Amino acid sequence: MSDEENEAPAEVPTHLPIVDYLVLGDDPHLVANECTGCEARYFDRRNACARCGQGEFASVRVDNAATLRSFSVVHRAAPGIPVPYVSAIVRTDDGTSVRSNVVGLDDPMKAALGMRLTLTTYGCGTDDNGTECVAFGYAAA
Ligand SMILES: [Zn+2]
Repeated sequence: MSDEENEAPAEVPTHLPIVDYLVLGDDPHLVANECTGCEARYFDRRNACARCGQGEFASVRVDNAATLRSFSVVHRAAPGIPVPYVSAIVRTDDGTSVRSNVVGLDDPMKAALGMRLTLTTYGCGTDDNGTECVAFGYAAA
């Protein structure tokens, strides 16, 4: 493998979002598929809107500011996942529901319904090529 040492580095991104609706860069944010008929928003790919049945979607930026709407403090998880952590559903200021975690609290028990949050990103591991996986969560605003 030593003959590969002098080759120019391949075009491998140094950061990869953990989900394709997370956009990285200087201004990380989420992107949703918004139904052009009823404005329902989805993070997964749909052939038709679950609310109105229409089949056209537009890619829209989701507001980074959010409010904590529902959460539970998780004390048990798969090996390698630090506990406790706060599993949450937040509502962004533009009305999008996002399933995520609340991160950055010094004590997870301080999570409270209605608390103001803002989107944040963090590294969640590096692969053999040095590409860092980036996840998102919501931190207290
Ligand atoms: Zn719709």
